[in-house]
Amino acid sequence: MASSPAQYLIRFDDLCPTMLSNRCERFLSLLSLYKVAPILAVVPDNQDPDLNLQPPDPYFWDRIRTCEAAGATIAMHGYQHLCTSSGNSLLHLHHETEFAGVSESRQREWIRCGLEILRGHRLNPRLFVAPRHGFDRNTLRALACEGLGVLSDGFALRSFTRHDVLWVPQQLWGPVEKSTGLWTICIHTNTATAALEEKLETFLRSNSKQFTSFNNVIADTLPDNLSWSERLAESIAYQRMRMSAAKTRMLHAS
Ligand SMILES: [Zn+2]
Repeated sequence: MASSPAQYLIRFDDLCPTMLSNRCERFLSLLSLYKVAPILAVVPDNQDPDLNLQPPDPYFWDRIRTCEAAGATIAMHGYQHLCTSSGNSLLHLHHETEFAGVSESRQREWIRCGLEILRGHRLNPRLFVAPRHGFDRNTLRALACEGLGVLSDGFALRSFTRHDVLWVPQQLWGPVEKSTGLWTICIHTNTATAALEEKLETFLRSNSKQFTSFNNVIADTLPDNLSWSERLAESIAYQRMRMSAAKTRMLHAS
């Protein structure tokens, strides 16, 4: 049986009132041109100085509400984006993260506060995006308990359930043509180059029909676990990514 063609989701990370709003707008306009609905990963209460890139935009929350009304999905991107914990993450791609290694009660409190902030801005957060892929079993338990049981992360080729949470995979940081599977492309608009913007436009021009939305993925997902062969493929993809992350760290350290 022939496998179905690849499907793509796109996610923009690190959205907060002090992000570089013009850059984010450019990417959002590009997607609306091709009628693609993104996942917007919003930091509820940013305290990370690295994301303080301009004075707070007084219209930020209005703009995000407008995007959600137009079809975007809102993700909660951590709580304050302060990556000061060095606990072990289930996906160990960075040494310091916000959530991994923090007590379950504290993580639950952060998730509850984050949801309150986003809902206070009249947004409807549907899933969680952990800063720097940092999350552990406590995070997953806290997410399930707080009713936000969907995560955008991992290296599988489809959505699946693990530890009571639905995982929607996220494996790419730029557009790459794939033959089959579900692929989420994550773009950090604050640091995205003009070359990446151009590459995305070219990719959308040829592949926009293969982009799906979070709602479609959820509607099509059976809440089941990965088979052993899918877990093996996931593990190989993850190890490859860990090696490449380690290489990048070495290059940056030198
Ligand atoms: Zn982030």
